[in-house]
Amino acid sequence: MQDGERNVKVFNLSCEHDHRFEGWFGSAQAFDEQRERGLVECPVCASKSVRKMPSAPRLNLSSGHEPAPEAGQSGRGQLAAAMPTPQQLQALWMKMARHLAEHTEDVGERFAEEARRIHYNEAPERGIRGVATPEQRAELEDEGIEVLSFPLPAAAKEPLQ
Ligand SMILES: [Zn+2]
Repeated sequence: MQDGERNVKVFNLSCEHDHRFEGWFGSAQAFDEQRERGLVECPVCASKSVRKMPSAPRLNLSSGHEPAPEAGQSGRGQLAAAMPTPQQLQALWMKMARHLAEHTEDVGERFAEEARRIHYNEAPERGIRGVATPEQRAELEDEGIEVLSFPLPAAAKEPLQ
């Protein structure tokens, strides 16, 4: 049944590796359809095994239980509260960098060669990281091999003490 409404729904999603991310869909049905067709994938590890998480409490901005101290400012205050602080972002970034470092194989200078071998099924499919020159990256892109450029902080390469 179509009632003509075009609302966008934001779903909190998680892949099998517990990476959390948001997906925007026209409806719950659209999400199911796209997932079945393999169009929904984790932005971190590209896994297509994605499930919906319960809505995060922070998204319920209109619950109205807390009386706003200043009615005129409440909208701005709520929006600000939902934004991560720079420290939180930095922590998230470090966490993601560490996760990437832990779940990818360091192939160093052989990155372009290895990415190509994986793309053409000459090597087992897995996450790799390494160094590539801009020329190598451009060549890979020409061949349809997607490369994520992610500056890895040195601290993320060391395991947590
Ligand atoms: Zn993932």
